[in-house]
Amino acid sequence: MSAVASPSAPAFVDPLSVPLELPARRHGRRLRLKSLSPASLRAFEKCPEAFRRTYLLEEKVPPNLSMTLGSVVGDTLARYFAGRIVGRAPGAAELDDLVLELFAAKIGDTVLGLEDDPDLGKAQCRAAVADYLTEIAPSVEPVSVERRASFRFDAEQEWRFVCYFDVECERLLADLKFGRSTVKEDRAYRDLQATAQTFMRWAERNPAEFVFHAATLERPEDGPRWQVVRAPRSIRQLLGFQRRVARVARMIAHLDATEPAEWPLAADFGWWCAPRVGGEGCPHWDRCPVGGGPIPA
Ligand code: SF4
Repeated sequence: MSAVASPSAPAFVDPLSVPLELPARRHGRRLRLKSLSPASLRAFEKCPEAFRRTYLLEEKVPPNLSMTLGSVVGDTLARYFAGRIVGRAPGAAELDDLVLELFAAKIGDTVLGLEDDPDLGKAQCRAAVADYLTEIAPSVEPVSVERRASFRFDAEQEWRFVCYFDVECERLLADLKFGRSTVKEDRAYRDLQATAQTFMRWAERNPAEFVFHAATLERPEDGPRWQVVRAPRSIRQLLGFQRRVARVARMIAHLDATEPAEWPLAADFGWWCAPRVGGEGCPHWDRCPVGGGPIPA
């Protein structure tokens, strides 16, 4: 796809319809939330109460094995691209050592399921990085890694919508996905991360195409492990995304002003609203009324 054309005017949503402040956190110095992100937006839309517990009460959400493996591979390849940008790309052996180092540092905080095999996961990370270096990396011309991009609707607004670009090129953004299943086309067409990142470059008046670099834990029997999955976005989708951010910010501010205790709970058809077992399910289950947690005073 050719990149989406830049906006001709910077203001798309009436700034008066967006709260200038987000709620204060409930602990410590009670500082206000300063940002929303694709992850926190998605968390709120799945379950406002889970958002409140994660981002306002700051209840810890330890990673499962799948998240840890994705993080190890992502951090290793970020180091690789950072080296390439300054003309000192680490070699395959150095990156393999880095995988081992990162895996050792992260696995201790990981919640393992009964079926999880950390040694197998480590081997999968090593193979995925080695395959990426031959299958994808030669075709990528990075200009930055893990750049923080943000926008706000109004200069008075005290919070920003923030996201990080895994790999940024002149006309391309690439997001690395390494997990149990690959990124299917139907997901790519609606994925929030893809929409948010495409929006950011568009709002910077420097539009870019977004792609996933996606791989599965096990190498497929035929063909390469890594796939390039395009995620094109229309201008209508980008404008819809902006309204979506504004709407969620309004709802968060409204709930903070009107709901002193728990916020609305997940619908009972949400697969994520389930007991936490082996890093899957909701980390707040035992403290939430749905899971039989305490009744608020
Ligand atoms: S257990 Fe369900 S309703 Fe409660 S916080 Fe988790 S997802 Fe939301």
